[in-house]
Amino acid sequence: MSLSRRQSLGLIGAAALAPRAAAAARLAYDLVPQQVADGIWMVEGATDYFSMRNGGAIVNITLLQGASGLIVVDSGPSLRYGEALKAMALGLDIRGVSAVVNTHHHPDHFFGNQVFADVPILALGGTQAAAFADGEAFADNMYRILGDWMRGTEVVPPTAVVEGGDLVIDGRGFEALPLAGHTGSDLALVDRASGNLIAGDLVFFDRAPTTPSADLAAWRAALDVLAGVEASAIVPGHGPYDTGGASIAQTRAYLDWLEAALTGAAREGLDMIEAMDLELPEAFVSMGAMPEEFHRSVAHLYSGIESEVLPLGN
Ligand SMILES: [Zn+2]
Repeated sequence: MSLSRRQSLGLIGAAALAPRAAAAARLAYDLVPQQVADGIWMVEGATDYFSMRNGGAIVNITLLQGASGLIVVDSGPSLRYGEALKAMALGLDIRGVSAVVNTHHHPDHFFGNQVFADVPILALGGTQAAAFADGEAFADNMYRILGDWMRGTEVVPPTAVVEGGDLVIDGRGFEALPLAGHTGSDLALVDRASGNLIAGDLVFFDRAPTTPSADLAAWRAALDVLAGVEASAIVPGHGPYDTGGASIAQTRAYLDWLEAALTGAAREGLDMIEAMDLELPEAFVSMGAMPEEFHRSVAHLYSGIESEVLPLGN
């Protein structure tokens, strides 16, 4: 409720301030670092979609001990989230954050960059370009969905470009895998010391994969690469830490089913609304953000699949 609205109701003093305090309390991110390996922490996001309830905190963040501070992989959905992440990092290492990496340009992965402007913010060149190209449109959408959670958030694209292969960030060695498919530019990192694979949104676990920027063939090829990594464990972009390696196969199985189901629906002549009514297989129905994420995927992908299956002029 705005101040003028409160004034118009004649609420003054403590009674008027109470709702404001309650609203401010609701806008607090409660980030809990989970130590997953020696010198590596993960903040696990909610597995539902962006909402006023979760403040957009649906992404997994990884923090790794560097020589002079913490290397943070992905920075969250808002300025306020970035501030909470920065404060949390100070609790783990009094020297704070020494570098940030953005795995890709989706807003929940880089809209916290603003608070880390004093350190290098690394990403693939394609991610940097996409953040410049799409960032403001993403911001409009996030402000529309998340309202006050986004207050003060500005789009700060990555500031330094990395390439594939050997990569040393603040004294810590990684293998950088420049891939694509979830978006046009997806970076996965293998931490040399621990063997952890930080997969970004190429890998989801028990949470429905999102497809607004997806190229399914490229995504499958990327998953083939990741399946060939001898990882000790996987940090997916969304969903729990994966010590058994099931997340890559699960993501792959879902994408395979999604494409086959939508192709079949198009061949049967179903329209988009009818395709949204397709029954989800048992294996996917209990994933986080279902069935809404499937409905969004139909909206993203169906007309393209229809035009492949039913070329104009046939
Ligand atoms: Zn994403």
